[in-house]
Amino acid sequence: MTSQAPSVAAFMASVNPSAVSHSGNDAEAVKIAAELREVVRNAANNAPRSLQVHLGPSELGVECDRQVVHKLTGQPDTNHVVDPWPSVVGTAVHAWLADALTAADPARWIAENRVTPFEGHAGTADLYDARNQRVIDHKCLGSTTHDKLRTQGPPRHYYVQLLLYALGYIRAGYVVNSIAIAAWPRTGSSLAGLYVWHHTITPEDWVLIDQVLTETNRRKDYAALVQAGQLGLDQVPRTPSGGCYFCPAYRPESAHDGGPGCPGQNTPK
Ligand code: SF4
Repeated sequence: MTSQAPSVAAFMASVNPSAVSHSGNDAEAVKIAAELREVVRNAANNAPRSLQVHLGPSELGVECDRQVVHKLTGQPDTNHVVDPWPSVVGTAVHAWLADALTAADPARWIAENRVTPFEGHAGTADLYDARNQRVIDHKCLGSTTHDKLRTQGPPRHYYVQLLLYALGYIRAGYVVNSIAIAAWPRTGSSLAGLYVWHHTITPEDWVLIDQVLTETNRRKDYAALVQAGQLGLDQVPRTPSGGCYFCPAYRPESAHDGGPGCPGQNTPK
């Protein structure tokens, strides 16, 4: 009796069985996924940005004193709930956009330029549009944060970050009349999801930046006291908010185990 070749459908079913877990279609695939994840997690955790004690424009506008003092005093991060993937995707998108924009018109677009709004607080500004004298920051946002930007405008630390980049450009001799956030969708699959928030700079904006400078000096004073052992980090005033989940000092268990970290929103510590 002659053996019959399997049909294409039967062959495909044999090499493509349904998933054995959400990570892969067989045990080896699950192992490959675990190894790849581990490499990404280690690389993200050891990226230069994560190891810096330097306080840049993206952090100066944070509302919570304790979050900033945590960073200034070089405390180990206690937040192990945030997944590194959004930041990996964001870094890759930033690099791609910088290449694409400068290739399209190098006289108009200046990408990834180091600027210094205040001594000791330099940062890399995503984009300057020389034609419109505008600073633009790319944000690669998940759907919840993207929707919030659309409906409520930017949170304070985004707004301050943009003004500080603008100030850095002004101090370097450029004219800056307006700021914008280009919010690229991290989820979804269409460029139609790009949302831009734009603001023309007013004199009141520089009043806000003066306040941020005063606030930063106060936080440096707290940091000096913590480092001298005269103040516990848990005695530094805090401002819990929806941003606690992303704070490096966040550790919800600290509300009841007495260990390090800050329990975040709606908790008594
Ligand atoms: S978890 Fe929230 S309240 Fe605590 S330090 Fe961070 S931002 Fe501040």
